[in-house]
Amino acid sequence: MKKLLIFLIIAFTMNLHAQITSADRPKLVVGIVVDQMRYDYLSRFWNRFGEDGFKRMVNEGYNFENHHFNYVPTLTGPGHTSVWTGTSPMNHGIISNNWYNKFEDKMVYCAADESVEPVGTTSSAGKMSPHRMKVTTVADQNRLHTQMCGKTIGISIKDRGSILPAGHTANAAYWFHGADEGKFITSSFYMKELPQWVQDFNNSNVAESYFKTWNTLENISTYKESGLDVNNFEGGFRGKNSASFPYDLKQLKAQNGNFDLIVQTPFGNDLTLDFALAAIKAEELGKDEDTDFLALSFSSTDKVGHNFGVNSKEVEDAYLRLDKDLAELLRYLDKNVGEGNYTVFLSADHGGGDVSAYLESVKIPAGYFDSKSFTEKLKTFVFQEYGKNNLIKNISNDQVFFNYEALDEAEIPTEALEEKIAHYILQQDRIHMVFTRSQLEGSSFQHGIGELIQNGFNQKRSGDVIFVLDPAVVSYSETGSMHGSGFPYDTHAPLIFFGKGIKHGSTTQRSEVIDIAPTVSALLGISFPDAATGKPLYIMLDN
Ligand code: ZN
Ligand code: ZN
Repeated sequence: MKKLLIFLIIAFTMNLHAQITSADRPKLVVGIVVDQMRYDYLSRFWNRFGEDGFKRMVNEGYNFENHHFNYVPTLTGPGHTSVWTGTSPMNHGIISNNWYNKFEDKMVYCAADESVEPVGTTSSAGKMSPHRMKVTTVADQNRLHTQMCGKTIGISIKDRGSILPAGHTANAAYWFHGADEGKFITSSFYMKELPQWVQDFNNSNVAESYFKTWNTLENISTYKESGLDVNNFEGGFRGKNSASFPYDLKQLKAQNGNFDLIVQTPFGNDLTLDFALAAIKAEELGKDEDTDFLALSFSSTDKVGHNFGVNSKEVEDAYLRLDKDLAELLRYLDKNVGEGNYTVFLSADHGGGDVSAYLESVKIPAGYFDSKSFTEKLKTFVFQEYGKNNLIKNISNDQVFFNYEALDEAEIPTEALEEKIAHYILQQDRIHMVFTRSQLEGSSFQHGIGELIQNGFNQKRSGDVIFVLDPAVVSYSETGSMHGSGFPYDTHAPLIFFGKGIKHGSTTQRSEVIDIAPTVSALLGISFPDAATGKPLYIMLDN
């Protein structure tokens, strides 16, 4: 008996120290980012979902109910990058979608790269790469770990939704070029020409087939989880008077950028799924011992949210349709990779706020911030104070960038200008808080908005004074939803893990976006991404 006990103890201890082997690893990791998905879409639409999509992932997988972004700004470029790199803009350097690059004295786009050539198009939409992302993604780590044998494929309608997650070593990242072309494209960063299967997909009429009527999936009278179909808070499409169902896309396409119209509807997500399934098959993802990665991002949910608002029937319909896409993806993976051979995680790149004009109409504090007139006022103030009009280089993304040479010449200490401007900004309407470079470099914020600003502050790339708008105040049109803040409507997102190596359960413990990539590393037994700051969510790992 005693011997048996000792044996069991030894066996147990050995097991604890056993390394993850290829038999333990999923053959394929599918990382899904849903663009602009608030956490409460899961609860709001729960009773409307089928059994095989979101519900299957939650009912069989692990659901993090209190999952958040830990930085400002909650935008698409930073969001996708943070999910896949396990760190925030402070380290990965993607501080916004577009930002003022002080070293080149111009605005730059997070994925744009003048040094590469478009592939599959002649449009500059193909001049893209991840070169501005300063760190590795977990997919990069898998490539390194497998001596480049495990594949990585990135897919999204948006270039940044595909390129940044897939990382620097991706076999391919594909994104959709709408306009008059309607094709999935890439750049010379990845390859010289599109593989045959992508050309075949582009030459098929799949994209074209979505020029059809967008009506609600189910009877609109049953859509009780969203606001009225006709209201004052929606944008809509050119060529149609009211933002209400049905939308005849064939009739509307000429006035709405041809193929760019498809991606403004849930059909853009359907098209993304069609392409993803074609990729799994043609690239033989999940077929051998080395783990492959599919970085998948569904972008159309974001476009529908921006146009119609998070409380719209259009958004509800987009999620009921996405639920079906998800079910189809899981069925396909079961069949082609095998149930129990793959792992899926699903999260978002940011949430989204209710339309501020709608909130105002129901007496909730909210409003709009006119960035243009604010910029003028601030510049006038600085001129009046110092008699110079060259002290500020740029004001963008709620950040003020100083002209260091001009400050030097005028012998004005940067701290003095910081303080003057911060005090002035704080006196303005609809401003919640202000932070200066000196503050962010000199102290460590442990909680609240200060911590989020600090995590979003890249010492090298960010500005010198950063301001925060009041809750529910946005710099946006008075129709449709916006995101970008550090408030819960923008930071609270879903995180569900499902499949091989994942326990069933849920938790209300807080998790953060930076935890996702280290968790995937732990699942695979590979290195964390270069600058990861998150912690693995061991609570849901089988081993
Ligand atoms: Zn987004
Ligand atoms: Zn957006």
